Amino acid sequence: MGIAKKILLVVLDGASDRPIGGRTPLQMAETPNLDLIARGGINGIMDPIAPGIRPGSDVAHLALLGYDPYEVYTGRGPLEAAGVGIRLKEGDVAFRCNFATMKDGIIVDRRAGRIRDTAELAKAIQEGVNLDAELIFKKSTGHRAAMVLRGEGLSPHVTASDPKHDHMHARKVDALRPEAERTANILNEFIEQAEKILETHPLNIERKRIGKPPANVILIRGAGAVQKIETFSEKYGLKGAVIAATGLVIGIGRMYELDYIETEGATGGVDSNIDAKVKNAIGALEDHDFVLLNIKGADESGHDGLIEEKIQFIGKIDKALGPIIGLKDMLVVVTPDHSTPIAVRDHSADPVPVAITGPGVRVDNVRAYDEISAATGGLSRIRSMDLMPMLMDLIDHTKKFGA
Ligand SMILES: [Zn+2]
Repeated sequence: MGIAKKILLVVLDGASDRPIGGRTPLQMAETPNLDLIARGGINGIMDPIAPGIRPGSDVAHLALLGYDPYEVYTGRGPLEAAGVGIRLKEGDVAFRCNFATMKDGIIVDRRAGRIRDTAELAKAIQEGVNLDAELIFKKSTGHRAAMVLRGEGLSPHVTASDPKHDHMHARKVDALRPEAERTANILNEFIEQAEKILETHPLNIERKRIGKPPANVILIRGAGAVQKIETFSEKYGLKGAVIAATGLVIGIGRMYELDYIETEGATGGVDSNIDAKVKNAIGALEDHDFVLLNIKGADESGHDGLIEEKIQFIGKIDKALGPIIGLKDMLVVVTPDHSTPIAVRDHSADPVPVAITGPGVRVDNVRAYDEISAATGGLSRIRSMDLMPMLMDLIDHTKKFGA
């Protein structure tokens, strides 16, 4: 058998769990295809960051791509901005925003009645606001938006204007450090100007007329500075693609310049069209060296504490993964990004089961794909950050250390 040239990384978002009545959802679910992958490969358990560190999906994916989250992660703002397609530059400061409803200085609805049609509002803000720094303001999904300030001497060390709960006063942005004073002033100026534009915008006048809450204020949070970005192809010399339905993962893909391939009917929920995502991933492997396929639904079931739903969805993933079983001459890797245990209803630090198949892999004795079986495999216990270097070695893409 030769050497693999390509890598398919399948991320079963949040599928990893703890035992419930003695068995985990991965153990209870019907998973003939995942078991075939485990049986045909080398297995182990993997700490998303390090033992005991509970990760978000964003930092967990950074680690899976071999970027040290402690070095590169600067908050949600830059990822949100990258996710809506803003090309970030070193020195930018990026934020997540909400279109919200304010009445007499009180935020009565942080989501402005879950408004969706914000394109005109975002455009009006982009065109109408004048600041002492360059502004890029774009709508995101639903009531969300992303904002970037570009210019000299900007700082991410500012407070959020978002009070985080309804029926509280909107806040002014404050500087957390003296050098952030100017940035805080620019943001407060932005909020004031945006408010004036929104208040008189025809779309809001119409919303008020039909009894819907107007999107008359922008809430800001998640400030993060953009550092120098080492793109995926600069780091590895590989052409990468990402297939996902969640903004954060898409944002990470775009930030590191992996091609984002959109899939129709992919929702990120348990109703997602995952057959289409798998098909897209296989298609993308034709002209990419590396494809990250994120399948989200099991994470949602974990957050909702729905064990039956989680088991069913893992079974649905397994069926959808059928077409990847026959892939030859490439590495196929299956791993969750982190655990989302039913009992915790949030992410936990528990390590996840990882399986690597393909040419050159030292196949071990693991017979099933789950957290407990994987722990007996040939990889033992590794960190997500170790995965890419190992895969790079398996595709013969590493430089020798020493002579
Ligand atoms: Zn996740």
